[in-house]
Amino acid sequence: MNIMKADLHNHSYYSDGVLSPTEVVKLASEAECDLFSLTDHDTTDGIAEAQLEADKLNLNLINGVEISALWRNMAIHILGLGVDINNDILQTGLEHNQKLRQERAEKIALGLWRSGIKDALEKTQAFSKTNMLTRTHFAQMLISEGYCKDMKTVFRRYLTGKKPGGVGVQWEGYDDVVKWIHAAGGKALIAHPLRYRMTHTKIKKMLIEFKYAFGDGLEVVTGTSTQDEINLSSQWTKDYNLLASCGSDFHGWPNQRLRIGNLKDLPDTDKAIWRHL
Ligand code: AMP
Ligand code: MN
Ligand code: MN
Ligand code: MN
Repeated sequence: MNIMKADLHNHSYYSDGVLSPTEVVKLASEAECDLFSLTDHDTTDGIAEAQLEADKLNLNLINGVEISALWRNMAIHILGLGVDINNDILQTGLEHNQKLRQERAEKIALGLWRSGIKDALEKTQAFSKTNMLTRTHFAQMLISEGYCKDMKTVFRRYLTGKKPGGVGVQWEGYDDVVKWIHAAGGKALIAHPLRYRMTHTKIKKMLIEFKYAFGDGLEVVTGTSTQDEINLSSQWTKDYNLLASCGSDFHGWPNQRLRIGNLKDLPDTDKAIWRHL
């Protein structure tokens, strides 16, 4: 049995979520989470606000971040949990990623301009409450301008591969990202392993090399996982001696039909990340 109700992967508007850190923490508290983490993309800027609200509501908050990285030239997301957000090595790494994001945003806008979509950068900025621009913000802009009906289509037609706004980013290798997280005293985990475009064989290679790079764990349960996926990921934690985490990857989008603190149980709680933080 999962004695802990933990939800360790969530977004606010400090990256591509729609709610404030305060609102996100309120939802976690209403859902009676025992343990919660805000894990915005490449920034810890929302955590101070989240911590204020968590203190008010007596919610146990773990500092978190979801860092963009590369493995064999593929973009991978590494969760850092239990990090000291004042650590210089971590913050220097995150600032580097924020710069890469800014440069990518300009390239996406240029690509869209070439296909006849004007002022994409300015228009997209209006969808972000902070200076963080993610592809999700471009997606929202393109939908609201009537180019596409939904997120899935807009990513496929505009924001991936060789499409007008498809821009590859040279994120740092995941072994370096593990080092940033460890420097800040946190644990490094591969987020949503089954959401990359990889065969199981390739995922296993990625996990073996992650362990080799001193990576700590794997996100076994996400908000959309089926029981089969959970069992498979849990088996991988055993095979490769990795810890296990669970998080909904909540963004608060109207069409994202999932709630904070509503996850299936981790099959093996001995491996649960919170036992090792
Ligand atoms: P970025 O980190 O700026 O490259 O944006 C990646 C984010 O876009 C992910 O964290 C997801 O939230 C979202 N995303 C990526 N692919 C899709 C997709 N096909 N449909 C909807 N959202 C997506
Ligand atoms: Mn996201
Ligand atoms: Mn992710
Ligand atoms: Mn996420």
